[in-house]
Amino acid sequence: MNLRIGNGYDIHRLGEGRPLILGGVEIPHRLGLVGHSDADVLTHAIMDAMLGALALGDIGHYFPPSDDRWKGANSLILLEQVNQLLIDRGWRVSNLDSVIVAERPKLKPHLAAMQTKLSEVLNLDPTAISIKATTHEKLGPIGREEGIAAYTVALIIREG
Ligand code: MG
Repeated sequence: MNLRIGNGYDIHRLGEGRPLILGGVEIPHRLGLVGHSDADVLTHAIMDAMLGALALGDIGHYFPPSDDRWKGANSLILLEQVNQLLIDRGWRVSNLDSVIVAERPKLKPHLAAMQTKLSEVLNLDPTAISIKATTHEKLGPIGREEGIAAYTVALIIREG
């Protein structure tokens, strides 16, 4: 079998006095995501999907919140490490498809910048990285702007 698939999900709470970082891009907004690292919910969902494709566990196993090394960590650096884990095992990402669920702010103007940033970190063509955004139609905690969630499906392919 030369193909494997994984899915990832993450959610973080929104709070004041935090930057809003999604896919490594800082987005101007009144609220930011709260977490031990930079709380980049999109990058976290991507990492979990990549790890899931090889049944390698989840990001909490590799970067536990109890470890001060990851306090305020740039999630793109963690993503680079997860990508290396795949490469070391002879695999690479074929493509990613993500959805960010956020009531506000409008994310559409920032999706291309996220795609570029993630493609640089993963050394992939930007067309291999799909990022979509939707609102939660004002329903539930995401609809009340208490948090932002992200989902990713990753297809990976065996090298050689
Ligand atoms: Mg997270």
